[in-house]
Amino acid sequence: MDSHNKNTDEQLEQQIRLEEIRLLHGGTPFSYTASFVIALIIYSFLLGHAASERNLNIWLAIILIVLLLRSIDSYLFFRASRQEQQKTGWRTRFIAGTGVAGVCWGLLPWLGYSPDPEYFTFIIVCLIGVIAGSLATLSYRWETMALFLLPASGLLALRIFLDEQTFSNATSLVLLVFIFFSYSAGKRVFNNTQQNIRLRIEADNREQAIELMHQKQALHLQNTPLAIIEFDINLNVTEWNRAAEKIFGYSREEAIDENVLRLILPRDSSDEAEKLWERLLNYEAVIGAVIENKTKAKDPVFCEWFITPLTDEQNKIVGVAAMALDITDKKRNELAMMKSREEAEQANQAKSDFLSSMSHELRTPLNAILGFTQLLKYEKTLTEKQQSHLDEIGNAGNLLLELVNQILDLARIEKGHLQLSMEKVNLTEIITECHAMVSPLAEQNNLALDIKTETGGYVIADYTRLKQVMLNLLSNAIKYNRENGAVSIKVLQKPDGIIRICVIDTGEGISRELQNEIFQPFHRLNAASSIEGTGIGLSISKQLVEMMNGTIGVNSEINRGSEFWIDLPGNLDSKIAAANDTTATASQSAANTDSSYGHKILVAEDNLTNQALVLNQLQTLGYTAEVVTNGQEALNKMINTDYQLLLTDCNMPLIDGYTLAKTIRQGGNQLLPIIAITADAFPEKKAECLEAGMNDVITKPVDLETLKNTLEKYLD
Ligand code: ADP
Repeated sequence: MDSHNKNTDEQLEQQIRLEEIRLLHGGTPFSYTASFVIALIIYSFLLGHAASERNLNIWLAIILIVLLLRSIDSYLFFRASRQEQQKTGWRTRFIAGTGVAGVCWGLLPWLGYSPDPEYFTFIIVCLIGVIAGSLATLSYRWETMALFLLPASGLLALRIFLDEQTFSNATSLVLLVFIFFSYSAGKRVFNNTQQNIRLRIEADNREQAIELMHQKQALHLQNTPLAIIEFDINLNVTEWNRAAEKIFGYSREEAIDENVLRLILPRDSSDEAEKLWERLLNYEAVIGAVIENKTKAKDPVFCEWFITPLTDEQNKIVGVAAMALDITDKKRNELAMMKSREEAEQANQAKSDFLSSMSHELRTPLNAILGFTQLLKYEKTLTEKQQSHLDEIGNAGNLLLELVNQILDLARIEKGHLQLSMEKVNLTEIITECHAMVSPLAEQNNLALDIKTETGGYVIADYTRLKQVMLNLLSNAIKYNRENGAVSIKVLQKPDGIIRICVIDTGEGISRELQNEIFQPFHRLNAASSIEGTGIGLSISKQLVEMMNGTIGVNSEINRGSEFWIDLPGNLDSKIAAANDTTATASQSAANTDSSYGHKILVAEDNLTNQALVLNQLQTLGYTAEVVTNGQEALNKMINTDYQLLLTDCNMPLIDGYTLAKTIRQGGNQLLPIIAITADAFPEKKAECLEAGMNDVITKPVDLETLKNTLEKYLD
């Protein structure tokens, strides 16, 4: 900034110096002509009266030569370019020339001296006139003035002083006083002239800068992509730049003096405009308001506006300056993105709906397949081969059921329908239960299970879902293990109240690159292998753990084994764990028929296959049962017969299971155990059943052991 100021100051000084030399040279045509004429007049008057005619001739010659040289110099100066004129040589020459001219004129009383007082006085008067006249043209620079004045007047004063006439001393004194005053007057003129030059140059510079600024502004105004619009208090347009022409389609001529609202606002946005106008009238600037405008062709155009009120000296609003940026493309992209996001969400929803209803429909036939397979196994007459075929059917059916259940889970998680009930889950309890459930599979695969169940402590989780995740990890650890390998569970306390549950195997391991992939749905590393699986277990586990505010991951080394871990909030303090000491129940043998005799059960089921299945299952378990195909028939039957238990499907024609249960309870029968058999595995379904007055829910496919346990629970 300082150096910038210094530069401009220097420039200004340079401009002033140039102006001075121009003014000095500018006076020369007049003053040289005058000097020439005066010199000739003096010469002609003194001729014949001067003391020495030769000296007078010399004086004239000198003065004419000096005048000629200086005239040539001035002529050359005016022909030179502005840049040339700035060279210091001109100045030096002019000042030196003035000094020489001063000396030449000072020589007049010496070389043109006349003893006749009348002529000598004439010389004095002429010289004083010349000196006085020179002040006008030389006062642009005090040095030039001094250089002319001092030799001319000094030599004159000296000559008068040396003259032996009586008044000469007084005359030279008066002359000196005159010279002194002339000089100081000249100096004042010089100062004023200097000041004038400076002011004029500064004003010129300022004017030029303003003009440049205006030009730049006009250029920006015309070339900016921002529409710049100004309008007066009556909303009539006063400024309309090129971008405004481009954005709104009206030319400047068309827009000027037109009402801005009529030009660019759609008819239905007057409320919005009124609000904006009110803000502006309150001296508030509007920044970044997005408004839907219209073009001349009535097309919509979205603009982002920056609007400020313009005020006069009394702070009265006289108009408005507005800038608008066309953001139509950006807005369209945003809308398109929103639309495609909505479409994607809808498609995803449709996919989840499809999966959910598909799996639900699959459960009904699966119920029959698995149920009858289980029943067949109790036939005493089966050969070993037939038994083994039944095992195959049962295994395949179970795998299919697992897949259907997992797809249902996935769909429910994606739809956000899965509800968790978070609680303190006793680690000993859950590990004991998992241990019991996977031991048969481990035994079957010749694997050692190293699970210390007495862990103590708790984690904050949903019991059922955590068990589902742990069972998935444990069954994977068994499935993907090697011959005679081992599976273990480790529980560690980590800092910040986090518990890590690790499921460790001695299998093939998973390479680092594939460790993330296995948590994606349907990613199986060895899909072609004989190991059964669906490829969804881990992805469900991940989502479940994350829903429980935990994390899941794997550390693995090829050929050494894998360690799958779950981190959940919790504590390993054994005292807290001890508070909840419910232990897992051991599995019991399915076919215990003794206690069942004598109970009469009513079954309401509309599907014929399911009817046959449940009747067979009940028979196998030793119960007597009657079957009806809807709720209405069930109610009719119950009028005459006393049943000990009602097994009912939920969805049936005429009267469904829910209405049936409600009617029975409203009829005053609170004691009859009512158990729903439903293909819906959702917990919401169970809640609905209980609300309708049922006691319990069994999900299809009905497992014989579950059926037996439930019946025993309610009949005993
Ligand atoms: P599934 O076991 O039904 O195929 P998962 O989602 O549970 O599906 O597992 C995905 C894949 O991750 C498996 O197919 C398997 O290739 C790999 N995997 C899972 N657990 C292990 C493990 N303990 N050791 C080696 N590979 C494993």
